[in-house]
Amino acid sequence: MSQNDNLFLSVSEVQQRIINDIKAINGTERVDLRHALDRILAEDVIATFDTPPCDNSGMDGYAFSSQEIAEGNTTLTLKVVGQSFAGHSYTGEIASGEAIRIMTGAQVPDEVDTVVMQEHTEKPDDNTVVITTIPKAFANVRKAGDDLTTGQTFLVTGKKLSPTDLAFLATQGIAEVTVKRKLRVAFFSTGDELRSIGETLGEGDIYDSNRYSIYGLLKSMAIDVVDMGVIRDDRQAIEEAFKTAASVADAVITSGGVSVGEADFVKETLEKLGQINFWKISMKPGKPLAFGTIDDSLFFGLPGNPVSVIATFYQFVQPALKRMKGQDIVLPMVIKAKTTELLKKRPGRTDFQRGILEQSDTGELTVRNAGTQASHVLTAMSRANCFIVIPAQSGSIEAGEMVDVQAFEGLLG
Ligand code: AMP
Ligand code: MG
Repeated sequence: MSQNDNLFLSVSEVQQRIINDIKAINGTERVDLRHALDRILAEDVIATFDTPPCDNSGMDGYAFSSQEIAEGNTTLTLKVVGQSFAGHSYTGEIASGEAIRIMTGAQVPDEVDTVVMQEHTEKPDDNTVVITTIPKAFANVRKAGDDLTTGQTFLVTGKKLSPTDLAFLATQGIAEVTVKRKLRVAFFSTGDELRSIGETLGEGDIYDSNRYSIYGLLKSMAIDVVDMGVIRDDRQAIEEAFKTAASVADAVITSGGVSVGEADFVKETLEKLGQINFWKISMKPGKPLAFGTIDDSLFFGLPGNPVSVIATFYQFVQPALKRMKGQDIVLPMVIKAKTTELLKKRPGRTDFQRGILEQSDTGELTVRNAGTQASHVLTAMSRANCFIVIPAQSGSIEAGEMVDVQAFEGLLG
């Protein structure tokens, strides 16, 4: 399938082509709350009772009936007949002219509906409270069902469960939820110049670093990884590696070996084993990308350069894997920031420049260059906390202009 050989595709076109093809995996599992963090919900969750379950106080103070509030009065004196503490409700009666002492979270009895904060009261003796600033009727009472009402769907399929969601489920006493099963992704590096850590570097060799970026990128997405290490540039070894990877994983990622020149037998092998598109993408870093299927597995052939791997992972692999996971939000979020320096660029491809995003004293988002912009240089990538995305047709951007930025923090997930 080399119909696109001489055609450059835009980043968004490739994103669409990839995402459109992908369906969420089917498998699910029941997990307890602690294991549900960062997993993708595979059911809609419904409230089986109102939360909070009862009217309760939002303040430490005194609870009384709004009937006591008379127009024109500036103070109100009430008899204190008991107390309601969180976990220890008041069970007696409350008559007209009476109040109870109440603490935050304590049940508000039926006879009363208003709470005055302690700071707005005086206590002439143990049995009397003088309200010095009269609150509005119904003040400081948190109503039953304020948060959730019985029958309400409160978390939906596709939600990535956050720490808040675990708490949200806990408020309903829910101990287990159904989530999508974990994705399993196999990956390997290709290249005769690559050595694994622990091996000695020969002349012209380098260490396989993509193995670790890909590992980290996948782990941050709560994915199970199958690390197959370095596969030599050897027809049979590559073919076997592809077959093994596809048989054990939902998706296979390789780095290296897809650029023009050395790609030929990798390409041949992939064409023999699966349905693969070889794309040239109008982006920098990046450019070559192979995408398709081998048996039932998705396949991503990323470029070899370390920065290109990370850039193409964020733009294409991550959205695809999120889709496969059944997650609702897929594409990286773009925000605007003001560049504080000249950003050099030639018109042609979309640049994903490594940048440092900061917030000025006045709250303005600013961005600057993180260092040398070359696809084999990890220094700037390591320093960066964002990509500055400069459109294909754009040339250099002057200091002071607004630019598109993809922040790394929160980009994965
Ligand atoms: P390739 O796409 O195989 O031509 O590789 C492009 C560049 O990336 C070459 O300089 C490779 O040495 C380098 N490269 C490929 N794979 C890796 C890897 N796993 N770790 C570090 N550099 C790599
Ligand atoms: Mg290579």
